[in-house]
Amino acid sequence: MTPDAGVEQADCPGCGKPVSLCVCAALAHLENRIEVLVLRHPQEQDKKLGTAGLLCRQLARATLRTGLSWPNLARVVGHDADVHRWAVLYLGTARQAPPTGVGPLVAADRDGTPLADQSVALGGIDGIILLDGNWSQAKALWWRNPWLLKCRRLLLNPPSPSLYGNLRREPRRESVSTLEAGALALAQLEAQPGWHQVLTAPLRLLTRKYRTLTPQRSRVDRRRGRRQRP
Ligand SMILES: [Zn+2]
Repeated sequence: MTPDAGVEQADCPGCGKPVSLCVCAALAHLENRIEVLVLRHPQEQDKKLGTAGLLCRQLARATLRTGLSWPNLARVVGHDADVHRWAVLYLGTARQAPPTGVGPLVAADRDGTPLADQSVALGGIDGIILLDGNWSQAKALWWRNPWLLKCRRLLLNPPSPSLYGNLRREPRRESVSTLEAGALALAQLEAQPGWHQVLTAPLRLLTRKYRTLTPQRSRVDRRRGRRQRP
Protein backbone atom coordinates (compact mmCIF):
# COMPACT_ATOMS: atom_id res chain seq x y z
CA MET A 1 0.00 0.00 0.00
CA THR A 2 1.48 3.28 -1.03
CA PRO A 3 1.28 6.27 1.31
CA ASP A 4 -1.09 8.01 -1.09
CA ALA A 5 -3.37 5.01 -1.58
CA GLY A 6 -6.16 6.62 0.41
CA VAL A 7 -6.06 9.65 -1.86
CA GLU A 8 -6.56 7.85 -5.17
CA GLN A 9 -10.29 8.20 -5.60
CA ALA A 10 -12.90 9.94 -7.69
CA ASP A 11 -12.67 13.70 -8.00
CA CYS A 12 -15.16 15.88 -6.18
CA PRO A 13 -17.33 17.67 -8.75
CA GLY A 14 -17.40 20.79 -6.59
CA CYS A 15 -13.69 21.47 -6.16
CA GLY A 16 -12.09 19.02 -8.60
CA LYS A 17 -9.91 17.47 -5.91
CA PRO A 18 -9.90 13.79 -4.91
CA VAL A 19 -12.80 13.29 -2.49
CA SER A 20 -10.52 12.79 0.52
CA LEU A 21 -8.93 16.17 -0.22
CA CYS A 22 -12.23 17.97 -0.90
CA VAL A 23 -11.98 21.69 -0.14
CA CYS A 24 -15.53 22.70 -1.09
CA ALA A 25 -16.11 23.90 2.48
CA ALA A 26 -13.51 26.61 1.93
CA LEU A 27 -14.50 27.67 -1.61
CA ALA A 28 -15.75 31.25 -2.00
CA HIS A 29 -17.49 32.93 -4.91
CA LEU A 30 -16.23 36.38 -5.73
CA GLU A 31 -17.60 38.79 -8.32
CA ASN A 32 -14.31 39.92 -9.79
CA ARG A 33 -14.27 42.87 -12.16
CA ILE A 34 -10.79 42.17 -13.53
CA GLU A 35 -10.84 38.97 -15.56
CA VAL A 36 -8.46 36.12 -14.80
CA LEU A 37 -6.92 33.86 -17.43
CA VAL A 38 -4.80 30.87 -16.43
CA LEU A 39 -2.70 29.18 -19.10
CA ARG A 40 -1.88 25.72 -17.81
CA HIS A 41 0.96 23.71 -19.27
CA PRO A 42 -0.29 20.32 -20.52
CA GLN A 43 2.21 18.54 -18.29
CA GLU A 44 1.08 20.32 -15.15
CA GLN A 45 -0.90 17.38 -13.80
CA ASP A 46 -0.68 17.80 -10.08
CA LYS A 47 -4.28 16.92 -9.36
CA LYS A 48 -3.78 16.87 -5.63
CA LEU A 49 -1.83 20.03 -5.00
CA GLY A 50 -2.47 22.02 -8.19
CA THR A 51 -4.28 25.30 -7.54
CA ALA A 52 -5.27 26.81 -10.90
CA GLY A 53 -8.70 25.18 -10.73
CA LEU A 54 -9.22 26.36 -7.17
CA LEU A 55 -8.57 29.93 -8.27
CA CYS A 56 -10.88 29.84 -11.28
CA ARG A 57 -13.72 28.02 -9.50
CA GLN A 58 -13.94 30.86 -6.99
CA LEU A 59 -14.18 33.68 -9.51
CA ALA A 60 -17.15 34.87 -11.56
CA ARG A 61 -14.85 35.86 -14.41
CA ALA A 62 -12.07 33.36 -14.91
CA THR A 63 -10.87 31.09 -17.71
CA LEU A 64 -8.59 28.09 -17.38
CA ARG A 65 -6.99 26.81 -20.59
CA THR A 66 -4.68 23.83 -20.85
CA GLY A 67 -2.29 23.78 -23.79
CA LEU A 68 0.99 25.08 -25.11
CA SER A 69 0.22 27.89 -27.52
CA TRP A 70 -2.59 30.10 -28.74
CA PRO A 71 -2.60 32.55 -31.66
CA ASN A 72 -3.74 35.55 -29.64
CA LEU A 73 -5.45 36.73 -26.47
CA ALA A 74 -8.94 37.06 -27.96
CA ARG A 75 -8.84 33.46 -29.15
CA VAL A 76 -7.87 32.10 -25.78
CA VAL A 77 -10.36 34.13 -23.70
CA GLY A 78 -13.13 33.68 -26.25
CA HIS A 79 -14.05 37.35 -26.72
CA ASP A 80 -12.58 40.63 -27.92
CA ALA A 81 -9.72 41.70 -25.69
CA ASP A 82 -7.22 44.58 -25.83
CA VAL A 83 -3.88 42.97 -25.16
CA HIS A 84 -2.46 46.28 -23.92
CA ARG A 85 -5.03 46.36 -21.13
CA TRP A 86 -4.11 42.88 -19.96
CA ALA A 87 -1.22 42.08 -17.66
CA VAL A 88 0.81 38.92 -17.38
CA LEU A 89 2.35 37.88 -14.11
CA TYR A 90 5.87 37.65 -15.33
CA LEU A 91 8.39 35.25 -13.86
CA GLY A 92 11.50 36.89 -15.18
CA THR A 93 14.85 35.72 -13.94
CA ALA A 94 16.45 35.85 -10.54
CA ARG A 95 18.11 39.10 -11.57
CA GLN A 96 14.67 40.54 -12.25
CA ALA A 97 13.19 39.58 -8.91
CA PRO A 98 11.30 42.53 -7.44
CA PRO A 99 13.27 44.68 -5.05
CA THR A 100 12.34 44.32 -1.41
CA GLY A 101 10.51 47.25 0.13
CA VAL A 102 8.01 47.60 -2.72
CA GLY A 103 4.36 46.51 -2.65
CA PRO A 104 3.17 42.95 -3.30
CA LEU A 105 2.43 43.75 -6.94
CA VAL A 106 4.86 45.69 -9.12
CA ALA A 107 4.40 46.87 -12.69
CA ALA A 108 7.64 46.43 -14.61
CA ASP A 109 9.05 47.18 -18.03
CA ARG A 110 10.32 44.55 -20.46
CA ASP A 111 13.60 44.28 -18.59
CA GLY A 112 11.83 43.63 -15.31
CA THR A 113 12.63 47.08 -13.94
CA PRO A 114 9.79 48.54 -11.84
CA LEU A 115 8.05 51.41 -13.67
CA ALA A 116 8.26 54.89 -12.18
CA ASP A 117 4.52 55.58 -11.97
CA GLN A 118 3.01 52.45 -10.45
CA SER A 119 -0.50 53.88 -10.05
CA VAL A 120 -0.76 54.55 -13.79
CA ALA A 121 0.80 51.22 -14.74
CA LEU A 122 -1.52 49.27 -12.43
CA GLY A 123 -4.63 51.20 -13.50
CA GLY A 124 -7.03 50.37 -16.33
CA ILE A 125 -6.25 46.66 -16.35
CA ASP A 126 -9.01 44.51 -17.88
CA GLY A 127 -7.50 41.16 -17.06
CA ILE A 128 -4.53 39.27 -15.68
CA ILE A 129 -2.81 36.19 -17.07
CA LEU A 130 -1.13 33.52 -14.95
CA LEU A 131 1.14 30.80 -16.26
CA ASP A 132 0.48 27.53 -14.42
CA GLY A 133 3.22 24.93 -14.24
CA ASN A 134 6.65 24.48 -12.78
CA TRP A 135 9.46 26.85 -13.60
CA SER A 136 10.43 25.41 -16.98
CA GLN A 137 6.83 24.75 -18.01
CA ALA A 138 5.92 28.37 -17.32
CA LYS A 139 8.95 29.49 -19.32
CA ALA A 140 7.84 27.29 -22.22
CA LEU A 141 4.37 28.88 -22.12
CA TRP A 142 5.98 32.29 -22.19
CA TRP A 143 8.04 31.60 -25.29
CA ARG A 144 5.31 29.71 -27.14
CA ASN A 145 2.89 32.64 -26.88
CA PRO A 146 4.67 35.71 -28.29
CA TRP A 147 1.52 37.84 -27.90
CA LEU A 148 2.28 37.80 -24.17
CA LEU A 149 5.09 40.27 -24.95
CA LYS A 150 2.43 42.90 -25.76
CA CYS A 151 0.79 42.59 -22.36
CA ARG A 152 1.74 44.67 -19.38
CA ARG A 153 4.10 42.93 -17.04
CA LEU A 154 3.58 42.42 -13.34
CA LEU A 155 6.02 41.09 -10.79
CA LEU A 156 4.97 39.58 -7.50
CA ASN A 157 6.57 40.46 -4.23
CA PRO A 158 4.66 38.22 -1.80
CA PRO A 159 4.70 39.40 1.80
CA SER A 160 4.93 35.80 3.07
CA PRO A 161 6.23 32.45 1.77
CA SER A 162 3.98 30.06 -0.11
CA LEU A 163 1.35 28.15 1.85
CA TYR A 164 2.76 25.00 0.31
CA GLY A 165 5.53 25.18 2.85
CA ASN A 166 7.78 22.19 2.25
CA LEU A 167 5.26 20.34 0.05
CA ARG A 168 6.66 21.95 -3.07
CA ARG A 169 9.97 23.38 -4.07
CA GLU A 170 10.20 27.13 -4.35
CA PRO A 171 13.06 28.32 -6.52
CA ARG A 172 12.72 31.86 -5.22
CA ARG A 173 11.01 33.64 -2.38
CA GLU A 174 8.48 35.24 -4.73
CA SER A 175 7.46 31.89 -6.20
CA VAL A 176 4.02 31.10 -4.87
CA SER A 177 1.23 28.87 -6.15
CA THR A 178 -0.99 30.01 -9.01
CA LEU A 179 -3.82 30.46 -6.52
CA GLU A 180 -1.72 32.62 -4.22
CA ALA A 181 -0.38 34.67 -7.12
CA GLY A 182 -3.87 35.30 -8.49
CA ALA A 183 -5.23 36.12 -5.04
CA LEU A 184 -2.42 38.59 -4.35
CA ALA A 185 -2.80 40.29 -7.71
CA LEU A 186 -6.60 40.51 -7.62
CA ALA A 187 -6.70 41.78 -4.03
CA GLN A 188 -4.34 44.60 -5.06
CA LEU A 189 -5.86 45.49 -8.41
CA GLU A 190 -9.45 45.37 -7.18
CA ALA A 191 -8.55 47.16 -3.92
CA GLN A 192 -10.09 44.29 -1.96
CA PRO A 193 -7.40 43.38 0.58
CA GLY A 194 -9.66 40.76 2.20
CA TRP A 195 -9.85 38.77 -1.01
CA HIS A 196 -6.38 37.36 -0.54
CA GLN A 197 -7.35 35.56 2.65
CA VAL A 198 -10.69 34.43 1.22
CA LEU A 199 -9.28 33.07 -2.04
CA THR A 200 -6.39 31.21 -0.40
CA ALA A 201 -8.59 29.50 2.23
CA PRO A 202 -9.00 26.35 0.07
CA LEU A 203 -5.22 25.98 -0.20
CA ARG A 204 -4.85 26.20 3.56
CA LEU A 205 -7.46 23.46 3.92
CA LEU A 206 -5.89 21.41 1.12
CA THR A 207 -2.39 21.45 2.57
CA ARG A 208 -3.78 20.58 6.01
CA LYS A 209 -5.68 17.58 4.63
CA TYR A 210 -2.75 16.52 2.46
CA ARG A 211 -0.36 16.55 5.41
CA THR A 212 -2.81 14.50 7.47
CA LEU A 213 -3.24 11.92 4.73
CA THR A 214 0.40 11.67 3.73
CA PRO A 215 2.86 10.30 6.26
CA GLN A 216 5.72 12.72 6.83
CA ARG A 217 8.41 10.23 5.95
CA SER A 218 7.03 9.95 2.43
CA ARG A 219 7.37 13.66 1.76
CA VAL A 220 10.59 14.75 0.18
CA ASP A 221 12.01 18.17 0.83
CA ARG A 222 12.96 18.90 -2.74
CA ARG A 223 14.71 22.12 -1.86
CA ARG A 224 17.41 20.12 -0.15
CA GLY A 225 16.98 17.02 -2.28
CA ARG A 226 16.57 14.72 0.67
CA ARG A 227 13.85 13.43 2.87
CA GLN A 228 12.78 15.67 5.65
CA ARG A 229 13.12 14.76 9.28
CA PRO A 230 10.00 13.27 10.84
ZN1 LIG B 1 -15.01 19.27 -3.14
